[in-house]
Amino acid sequence: MTAVGIYTRISRDRIGAGLGVDRQEKDCRELAARHGWTIARVYRDNDLSAYSGKPRPGYRQMLNDITAGTINVVAAWHTDRLHRSPAELEEYISACDPRGIPTHTVKAGPLDLATPSGRLVARQLGAVARFEVEHAIERGQAAKAQAAAAGRWKGGRRPYGYEADGITVRESEAAIVQHMAEQIIAGASLRGLAADLNGRGETTSTGRPWRADVISSVITRPRNAGLMEHRGQVLEGVAAQWPAILDPDLWRAARFVLGDPARRTTPGPARRWLLSGIATCGVCSASCFATRVGGHPGKTLPTSYACREARHVVRIASEVDSYVRDLVVARLSRPDAIALLAPTTYADTTALHGEVAVLRERLDELGRAFADGDIDARQLREGSERLRSRIEAATTAIASAARGSVLDGVVGEEDVAATWDGLHLDRRRAIIRALCEVTILRARRGRRPGWRSEESYFDPETVDFQWVDSRLAG
Ligand SMILES: [Zn+2]
Repeated sequence: MTAVGIYTRISRDRIGAGLGVDRQEKDCRELAARHGWTIARVYRDNDLSAYSGKPRPGYRQMLNDITAGTINVVAAWHTDRLHRSPAELEEYISACDPRGIPTHTVKAGPLDLATPSGRLVARQLGAVARFEVEHAIERGQAAKAQAAAAGRWKGGRRPYGYEADGITVRESEAAIVQHMAEQIIAGASLRGLAADLNGRGETTSTGRPWRADVISSVITRPRNAGLMEHRGQVLEGVAAQWPAILDPDLWRAARFVLGDPARRTTPGPARRWLLSGIATCGVCSASCFATRVGGHPGKTLPTSYACREARHVVRIASEVDSYVRDLVVARLSRPDAIALLAPTTYADTTALHGEVAVLRERLDELGRAFADGDIDARQLREGSERLRSRIEAATTAIASAARGSVLDGVVGEEDVAATWDGLHLDRRRAIIRALCEVTILRARRGRRPGWRSEESYFDPETVDFQWVDSRLAG
């Protein structure tokens, strides 16, 4: 009795061979019937990736059965169902040859592995099948490059901001991409943005919560600006066949901010103070930072804002914060605040970002010069304070260019104060930068006039608060 083992495998590795295993099995059964063989067993593998090298349990079982002698002929639809590589063919030959087990295929007839010429034919068939696979892979890559050069989508997972066809804009998501890019330019952090979006129940295109790295990769996608990318390179002069959802200048500016090394290398502890690095010293114009100064052993002083080196001014941080907060909330609660949501242009912010990068570079040089002994501590301090205040000015200009978007979702709310207090600190800082300048002045000697004993020492007269433009002041 001839016991036949039928081997079937579903795969994509041969053109036109998306042939189902049922069809393969049916054809093999007919082959067996014609020869009068008894079907001992049917082996099936689902192996969708060509050359994956993925184990094939059905195939393994068949080789075991060949070695054990429970089958004495193999039937398959085509030899390329049996072997995926020359190495697998050699293994198959060494299992079948000593036992004289013939292989029959529906498409190519009997396969003679017992003679040198028969094995040569089998190896050639294998080589041809492999060539076809490699050719198909190469063609696939060429097709992708061609698609990119023609501005066509290369396919894949649905890009956030677009429908599954990659062409149609999904307006609700496009608005969020725009919002995210503007927030980044305005100085918001990726972490803060993620928390904000997740808090609003927004998800990514795959329905997952937002994470900082995902936001960064979504915003910087060239496709959002209608640009084509192939192998990590933006293709100059090629327009995508879908509409942009970000102004190209806004996209460039956001990409610049996210690619800024200063941003990546100084994550540090999250900022806790509204005006640290934003408020300036009324004497030397340097930025004031939250710090703990003075005090005696065993007595902690509250955190204060002070200019870094000279400490011309020192003011309790929480008091300055709440004073500024109240002024901003009052202004944003006015009915005419809605006019502040005017659309903005981003053409100039790219230049400003470039300026910030150059100034940071100069700061580094200054530090190196000090380390090398070329300048003294006083020169270092004066030089770096000048540079820092220019960086701050450029950052403020960038922020005010994006003002409309920073205020989106705050202005026009029923309870602006509650909305404000619920915002992430980065967002509140971005708003402050976009709206006002805060300068801490030297305090007068003694208590302010009218001070009563139960009140704080804080004197609003010693904080100079200015709106950045007349529209706000009006
Ligand atoms: Zn100062």
